[in-house]
Amino acid sequence: MSPNIAKKQRFLGKTAIITGAGSGIGRATAIQMAKEGANVALFDLVNERTSVLEQKLNKLRKDCALAIDVDTSDAGRMEEAVRRTVEHFGGLDIVFANAGINGAVGPIEELSLSDWERTITVNLTGTFLTLKYTIPHLKEKGKGSIIITSSINGNSRFASFGWSPYSTTKAGQVAFAKMAALELAKFKIRVNVICPGAISTNIDESTEFNEDVESIVIPIEFPEGAQPLADGPGKPDNVADLVSFLASDESIHITGAQIVIDGAESLLS
Ligand code: NAD
Repeated sequence: MSPNIAKKQRFLGKTAIITGAGSGIGRATAIQMAKEGANVALFDLVNERTSVLEQKLNKLRKDCALAIDVDTSDAGRMEEAVRRTVEHFGGLDIVFANAGINGAVGPIEELSLSDWERTITVNLTGTFLTLKYTIPHLKEKGKGSIIITSSINGNSRFASFGWSPYSTTKAGQVAFAKMAALELAKFKIRVNVICPGAISTNIDESTEFNEDVESIVIPIEFPEGAQPLADGPGKPDNVADLVSFLASDESIHITGAQIVIDGAESLLS
C-alpha cells in the first residue's frame, strides 16, 4: 500500500477473486486487500508464485488466502476455480479480472492466426469467463464490485507499433465493462475498468516480438520523461490503491467508469 494512505480495514468479511494474482498488479492488490481484511482467492497460471504468496498471506492472517492454479481462458477450469473459492470462503464480493499477456507483437500481415487468437483468448475471453462464472455469486450476495484491467493502449494510446492484438483486447475490455455495468446495475453490482500506463511488473516476459516489427515503427520524439507526474513507470502498489478504492464502498456510486492511471503518459502520446 502506498505509504501516504492510512491503513484501513475496508474488506473485513469480504472475499475477492483476483486473476493474475501471482505477479505485478494482481499480486500487489492481493496483498493490499488481504491486509485490509479480505479473503483472497489467488488465480494464476504460475502456481509456484501464488502458492508462495498464499503462504505469506496466511501467515499475515490465518486462512485468508487460497491459491488456485487456473488458466482464466479455460471455461471448465474457471468454473471449477470459482466454485472452489465460494465453497472455501462461503461467498464472493469482489472480482478483479486482471490476468493478461502482451502476446505477439508484429506487423499484422506477419502475425499468425494463432498469435492473434492467443492474445484475444487470454485477455478478452479470459475476462468474459471471469465475469460469466462469478456474476451468479455476486447476485446471490445482492451486491458486488468488479474491476477489469484494460490499458491506455487501445484506448487513449495507439503508438505502440505492432501491438494490434493487445490493443484490440484492451479496447474490447472497456466496451465489455461498460455493457456489464449497465446490465448489472439493477443487481447493485458495479463494474469499472482501469487503464494503466507503464507499470513496473513482469509483463514484458509475456511479449513475443516478431523480428519485422521495426519495419512498421513510425519514429516519435517524446518530450522528456514518458510519465510527467513521476520519475518513471508507476508501481503495482499505485494501481492496487485504485483497485481497492473501486472494490470498496468508498466508490459506491461509481460504475461504468473508465479510469486512466498513467501519470499523464497518454496525454503525451
Ligand atoms: P505480470 O506479468 O506481472 O502479471 C500478470 C499475471 O497474469 C502473471 O502472474 C501471469 O502468470 C498471469 N496470467 C497470464 N495469463 C494468464 C491466464 N491465462 N490465466 C491465469 N493467469 C494468467 O503483469 P501485470 O503488468 O501485473 O499485468 C496485469 C494486467 O495489467 C494485464 O492485464 C496487463 O495487460 C495490464 N496492464 C499492465 C501494464 C504494465 O505496464 N505492466 C500496463 C497496462 C495494463
